[in-house]
Amino acid sequence: MLRLLIAILLAASALAARGPVYVVLWFDTEDYIEPAADDAALRIATELDKLGVRATFKVVGEKARVLESRGRTDVIRALGRHDIGYHSNFHSIQPTPALYLRGMGWLDGAAEFERRETPGVEDVRRIFGATPSCYGQPGSSWAPQTFRALRHFGIPVYLDEGDHVGIGEQPVWFGGLLNVYSMGQYQLRASLDDEAALPQAFEKFDHAAEQLEAKGGGVISIYYHPTEFVTTAFWDLNFAKGANPERADWKKPPRRTVEESERCFRILTRYVEHAKSRPAVRFVTARELPPLYQSQAVRAADRATVARHLSQRQTFLETDHGALSAAEMLEILLGTEPALVEGPVSRAATTYHSENIPRPAFDRAKTDASDFIRVNRRLPAEVWIGSEKLSLADFTATLAADTGGTPTVTVRKGNLEMERYVSTDPRTSFQWPIHPEGFSAPELLELARLQAWTLKPARLK
Ligand SMILES: [Zn+2]
Repeated sequence: MLRLLIAILLAASALAARGPVYVVLWFDTEDYIEPAADDAALRIATELDKLGVRATFKVVGEKARVLESRGRTDVIRALGRHDIGYHSNFHSIQPTPALYLRGMGWLDGAAEFERRETPGVEDVRRIFGATPSCYGQPGSSWAPQTFRALRHFGIPVYLDEGDHVGIGEQPVWFGGLLNVYSMGQYQLRASLDDEAALPQAFEKFDHAAEQLEAKGGGVISIYYHPTEFVTTAFWDLNFAKGANPERADWKKPPRRTVEESERCFRILTRYVEHAKSRPAVRFVTARELPPLYQSQAVRAADRATVARHLSQRQTFLETDHGALSAAEMLEILLGTEPALVEGPVSRAATTYHSENIPRPAFDRAKTDASDFIRVNRRLPAEVWIGSEKLSLADFTATLAADTGGTPTVTVRKGNLEMERYVSTDPRTSFQWPIHPEGFSAPELLELARLQAWTLKPARLK
């Protein structure tokens, strides 16, 4: 009897330790050419209502305006019962974000994205009555400068899929936003084209969910486009390979038959029902995500631990209490509270020629670096020692390794380990039929590496 009781208690505690699996189901609601896509969005929202599941509809600005001008208050209202995100103002009309941001820097690029996207954000806000909860780029047209603008818009979550930046196939903090991105095996979907393959899709979902449950919890990201349910090719092929046709020349995408569409809706319903049937699964919207995570500003380690870590490598640090980005740790070393700052705007090289820095000169450099960060809310690309300078990485390594008390400070070389979490393939990462042929954006990946100072895993509460 006692043994049985113990067995029951052990089983119960094992069950309790199994973490929650948060499923983010999102729909890129973007086709403003084929009106049947409006009905598809309505149908999806309504079916999900019946299942008691709330999804996130990332709406394109032009799509929101088209719904309004077509008098589709039914669609607007139905989507509004779910969560509303933002998916750019025009999606595929040239130039797309990565194309025009590739040649721009951090500040001017962010300002240009903000200029181009403000009307779309405002229209979605006006038409749906809420600030979008998240943003995700059209296609693979990702660019780091967008993060600065998104923070200005008051959009707290980056929700999309791509491989530009990520850690461990789970959400991360990057650029001040909670990112559900680069989710690998936790990015799932059931193919809409093959109902017979559903059992395999269920199995894949169960496997991913089991892994997360065993790890103490995590996120599964699932996405579709309402237009996929009614068309057999994407609406935006009008703009393929950089094409710039006039509105009158836009062609409608080929339609699915009614039977095919019914199958698509059925597959989605069955897939969602299956996911729901797991006790640990909870569907959440983008808006519900940030409160599930530890806040960014968590003092997860003391100064000594931070110094030890940063003297070896400049990358995020995970402790029992949470995670710190390299930027936050640099702030701790400089004696300020870790607060949200941006990475440097450029990469500087060290010109300081000697192996040692006189302590008074180094102390002045520290004060200057602190002041730069306080005033700009951004890390400096370089820190001056008189007329010579240290790169940010070398300055950080030098500061971290300095034990104080000596007349000089030994210069250390930085080790930007954080950069390994950014894609190194500027072609594949930006592959998208809408980008001009052969498009490649190494400049954007370089900017992303600079912003990796802000990168760290997001930790569930
Ligand atoms: Zn899209």
